[in-house]
Amino acid sequence: MNNKFDNFNFDTLAVRAGQQRTAESEQSEPIFPTSSYVFASAAEAAARFSGEEPGNIYSRFTNPTVRTFEQRLAALEGGERCVATSSGMSAILSTFMALLQSGDHIVSSRAIFGTTSVLLTNYMTKFGVETSFVDLTDLDSWAKAIKANTKLLFLETPSNPLTEVADIQALADLAHQHDCLLVVDNCFCTPALQRPFELGADIVIHSATKYLDGQGRCIGGAVVGKEDIVGADVYGFLRTAGPTMSPFNAWVFLKGLETLRLRMEAHCRNAQLLAEWLVDHPNIKHVYYPGLVSHPQHALAAKQQKGFGGVLSFEVVGGKQAAWKVIDATGMISITANLGDVKSTITHPATTTHGRLTPEQRADSGINDSLIRVAVGLEDIEDLKTDLARGLDKL
Ligand SMILES: *Cc1c(COP(=O)(O)O)cnc(C)c1O
Repeated sequence: MNNKFDNFNFDTLAVRAGQQRTAESEQSEPIFPTSSYVFASAAEAAARFSGEEPGNIYSRFTNPTVRTFEQRLAALEGGERCVATSSGMSAILSTFMALLQSGDHIVSSRAIFGTTSVLLTNYMTKFGVETSFVDLTDLDSWAKAIKANTKLLFLETPSNPLTEVADIQALADLAHQHDCLLVVDNCFCTPALQRPFELGADIVIHSATKYLDGQGRCIGGAVVGKEDIVGADVYGFLRTAGPTMSPFNAWVFLKGLETLRLRMEAHCRNAQLLAEWLVDHPNIKHVYYPGLVSHPQHALAAKQQKGFGGVLSFEVVGGKQAAWKVIDATGMISITANLGDVKSTITHPATTTHGRLTPEQRADSGINDSLIRVAVGLEDIEDLKTDLARGLDKL
């Protein structure tokens, strides 16, 4: 696919890849709100249905706006094929349903998006797929957890909310030694900062809801990988089960991709400045951000990523009351659990995103009551500091 764009670089692909101008000669990509497509004849309909002739049949299978988004994201990740889905969770579900069967086993990082861990423990288990959870950064524990029936290794890096960084290359090598696939949820970095296929990953997953949209408007997701895996198995599940991306959302996301690198650089710049300011604040116990030289995987992040990302977290002096006080004292930053938005967001993981974990699970994950996560947006850095200082200075 996309042969026309093979020789272009990232910034060109971001604004051009996947566009197929119609007879109207439009400059901007059109939205195709149509559920089905019309055939010239009964014979053409038959040929399309049998697969003899390529082309659109029904928008649960393919839609031109969705295809543009898919081709553009595949080009940016450097993957052969992308399948867009209705949400990040349906991208993850579609991958599992397409590639696993009863009796299979997954090894997953413990530090993954909360809903992904609920999917694995409460739902995939109903279909006979078991998961072992391991420490993201401890390669030995990954190796020890792999069994004869292990099919997938699953991770996010940097992790949420503690920003631990996994060695993708080392985990890809480990996966391949055991004939497993390495699946990386690349939501936090996006291809603008991290390209997991270059490090050996087999499948890249996105919640397009976050940075790909970038302005907090739509829910969507994507699976990227090889034609024979994503193009055959994952697409086969999607067109059958139906968690399809809408053309309106695909349009928002494909326009988001055009400014992705610029936005990610600005998110990283603001997050770095905010992290450095927080480190020096007397009422902060610890700051988690891969861009700080004190971060345990700072060197790995510098090697593996083009930037350190837009999400950071920090522990305040005092417990839950102190953390809530800082959050409630903000006047500008949005109190919401979403991230990847130009508007900064602030959240208390222990009572929101990680509230469903037991206290022991939370302690295991290192998420204590004094922890606050900020997904740093694109507001003026001095205004961000002022907003956080309102509560921090009074602890
Ligand atoms: C938000 C998120 C998801 C789930 O995506 P939805 O679009 O909300 O379904 C998956 N993984 C990560 C890392 C996320 O942040």
